Amino acid sequence: MLGKKKAQKADKNMKDKDNETMEKVISLCKRRGFVFQGSEIYGGLAGTWDYGPLGVSLKKNIENIWWNMFVDSRPDVYGLDAAILMNENVWKASGHVDSFSDPLVEDKKTKKRYRADHLLEEAGINPAGMSIEEMSAEIVRAEIKSPDGNEFGEVQNFKMMFETKIGASEDAGVTYLRPETAGGIFVNFKNVVDSFHPKLPFGIAQIGKAFRNEIAPRDFIFRVRELEQMEIEYFVREETWEENFEHWRKNVWNYVDKIGLPRDMVHELEVGDKDRAHYSKRTIDFEFDYPFGRKELYGLAYRGNYDLTKHKEGSTANIDYVDSESGEKILPHVIEPSLGVGRTFLAILTSAYTEDELDGEPRVFLKLKPSVAPIKVAVFPLLKNKPELVAKAQEVFEMIRTEIPQITFDTNGNVGKRYRRQDEIGTPYCVTIDFETVESENPDDAEVTVRDRDTGKQERIKIDSLVSYLKEKIK
Ligand code: ATP
Repeated sequence: MLGKKKAQKADKNMKDKDNETMEKVISLCKRRGFVFQGSEIYGGLAGTWDYGPLGVSLKKNIENIWWNMFVDSRPDVYGLDAAILMNENVWKASGHVDSFSDPLVEDKKTKKRYRADHLLEEAGINPAGMSIEEMSAEIVRAEIKSPDGNEFGEVQNFKMMFETKIGASEDAGVTYLRPETAGGIFVNFKNVVDSFHPKLPFGIAQIGKAFRNEIAPRDFIFRVRELEQMEIEYFVREETWEENFEHWRKNVWNYVDKIGLPRDMVHELEVGDKDRAHYSKRTIDFEFDYPFGRKELYGLAYRGNYDLTKHKEGSTANIDYVDSESGEKILPHVIEPSLGVGRTFLAILTSAYTEDELDGEPRVFLKLKPSVAPIKVAVFPLLKNKPELVAKAQEVFEMIRTEIPQITFDTNGNVGKRYRRQDEIGTPYCVTIDFETVESENPDDAEVTVRDRDTGKQERIKIDSLVSYLKEKIK
């Protein structure tokens, strides 16, 4: 067994390594055009990030896989794209105006602000169910100081919704940027029922932006102020909530597999009574082992029929669901799998980031599952100053592109360098056109070299069968 000092040192070494991994991933994201700091040339804007060309591609893959699995492949889930700006009464009815807040505490000297619950957690104290007064008392009792070594003031509730004004007049109405996409789903529940007459159980799904005025945005794109969510409200009869909860629990795992997150890095956390919203009978947080710790990736909650009940009261509209056979009027209960796009993106990148040695040289590569890789195939002519190679490579490139659009063409530097560049962005396959390809006596026998990102192994494949070979590989 390690002695205490050795264990502490090992722990510190691990932490340093994890910080280093984060720094490397952030720097790769900037260098290769995945993610840039928001408003960078103006000094940035905390909690906002811009996705560059490769980032958008990866993000769209994450979203399209989700949409395909849960909307396009299912007859019982309907898609929606609701407005971000909604009537302020939506957020009054849902309880967000009164209670969507986080506990904030300020360093008395520097005035820097922190999440009180996070400070307590870091000090090994569970803040679940504590009032802000209790948190203040705990901070004093446990002698928790700010990272600058100063005392904290009292804990206060900090409202997280971004408020904005609608219209030009002085008394323009207030509204909010939505803090979650779910609001748009509940408000359109009746519209979907009236236009599609779905039988229970059925779901409504939406992907879109949400905004939260986080006190301390941090950990790159993990905690941001402008985020994207993929949410489903799956409406069920109350007596079937448990089986439907299990169904969505399995589906979260299916999605994790589909996007290639290692299962052993994803963990279910049963949220205890004190931590759960009062209307929720069961919530599971799916946590991920990020380099900065095990943190929430997704949430799965049984929300009863709290939301529909509140919107029925708040709007006074008749939003009951009428059973077509029995004529019975009910407000269905709901299971909500809520997935963050940015947190998925970060989990994919941090778990895929790999350093190894290939042919005696160190290299960095992203071990991305082909389905999420922003570029699936790169095509090169062996030499860029041989027109016959370039022309053939372009022909092959166009042929593949019609079937596999996420593709690139590269002639810069030698082939070894091009491989490394593609490895770094996670391109699973590189196709090289060489002299043998163009000199083949019978064009039907012409072959190219296909190189595998993970093993570096190369195979000769006939151009004739290249597209089907690649399609099979990147499935
Ligand atoms: P946390 O406890 O980390 O603040 P939360 O419990 O408030 O998260 P939910 O309200 O359950 O999060 O939101 C559903 C999902 O939306 C989360 O599981 C996460 O993937 C994503 N999400 C929420 N807040 C943020 C944020 N500030 N930045 C990025 N993603 C977020």
